[in-house]
Amino acid sequence: MKKKQHALSGKIEIMYSDSEDMAKEVKQKLILHWNYRGLKEIPEVVRTYGSHIEEVYLKWNQLTYLPIWIAELHNIKNLYLYGNRIHNLPEQFGAVRQLTVLDLSANQFQSVPGCIGELSNLKSLLLNDNSIKKLPAELHRLERLEVLSISGNRLVTLPEWLGSLPNLRELNVDNNLLKELPNRLTLASELSSISVCSNRLRYLPLNGFLSNPIIRFDSNNCLNYLSYIVLCQMIIAVPRPRNVGNVLAYGCFNIHKEGNLSHNNIKLIISAHTANEELIKIPIELPRQLLKVYTVHENRTVSLWELALRKIYNSRYRHTVEIFVSPLKVKVSHQLVRKRKLSQHLPDDYVPYNLIENGPISICTNPHCQEPIFTEAWVTVGMGRYVYSIPTVALCCSRSCASKYVAFSGGIMNLLWHIADD
Ligand SMILES: [Zn+2]
Repeated sequence: MKKKQHALSGKIEIMYSDSEDMAKEVKQKLILHWNYRGLKEIPEVVRTYGSHIEEVYLKWNQLTYLPIWIAELHNIKNLYLYGNRIHNLPEQFGAVRQLTVLDLSANQFQSVPGCIGELSNLKSLLLNDNSIKKLPAELHRLERLEVLSISGNRLVTLPEWLGSLPNLRELNVDNNLLKELPNRLTLASELSSISVCSNRLRYLPLNGFLSNPIIRFDSNNCLNYLSYIVLCQMIIAVPRPRNVGNVLAYGCFNIHKEGNLSHNNIKLIISAHTANEELIKIPIELPRQLLKVYTVHENRTVSLWELALRKIYNSRYRHTVEIFVSPLKVKVSHQLVRKRKLSQHLPDDYVPYNLIENGPISICTNPHCQEPIFTEAWVTVGMGRYVYSIPTVALCCSRSCASKYVAFSGGIMNLLWHIADD
């Protein structure tokens, strides 16, 4: 049909010579460079002669779909489809098991096809600049995935299982609508870089990151504090610690801004004096996992629920965050100490199971304690020692630990806070 149309426009000869050239090229090469060709579909010659092809560049064409026979290309390892008009993949695509790099950036995906989860050898998945709103659960099977780049989409949350991808090294989620990061990311063992600029984050995870990744989070203008542990981890990467606020996160820590705070999470109003002695009130929002918070001097008993979570976690994991007197030394370690994993007994939607699996919201900041904290904590808010422009929050497991932390962190100016009533 198409050939006929071309015949009418007098282009039939060009068509034939094009496809003859293409056939010749497919037969001779392992890598096809077919960017900017105006292709509306992948030419059949690839199916006929291309079973040996290893790499295909089809950037900036006009593809709207991938053919079912793509699954017949048993040697294709890298597939670059940047800048087309594709919005779905055929189910059979999951059979392209040998694929290691898949670039679907700048297409028209509104959701991520679940069949990608079957690509068990995939190392890089690039989904930038689509209109994706969530990552499907099927992707948790991508055990070899090292790079996930999904910037310029419409993600509001990221799933906790991202933190369990055993080989994830790089996570790029710039320019989305994220309000928070998954707590379990702190437990990812290989993560070396997280980029989450231009989102709507109001807090970063409070616990130390096991793999000590570089975290870029510029232009999150509702983010106005860090946890003491995470700030100490970040200072390591900055040559002159006092500049950490400028170097680390341009467009954050605008302490006067109220931002779009959530209605559900606990919000604290911090009282602080500016350089010219003016008293200011800073609202900060705590992560949703925290259900009860106390000030340093509050003599309270921790609920049985919280105690149970701490005990179950301690019976399975050894998890410590040690901050030495100099913040140039922060050591986070986490290991399974009992062989049988919790997931073998309990269903996925069992709430305590999720809490345990996602890791504690923080380890007690009293350096001699190291108790995990899940839903209840004694909170201290401070400013100072190394960075004067960034409020820090530290969580302790008990009143006595909170007092010890305050004594230990002598250089920090502790700030008064009260819970905001909505
Ligand atoms: Zn403690």
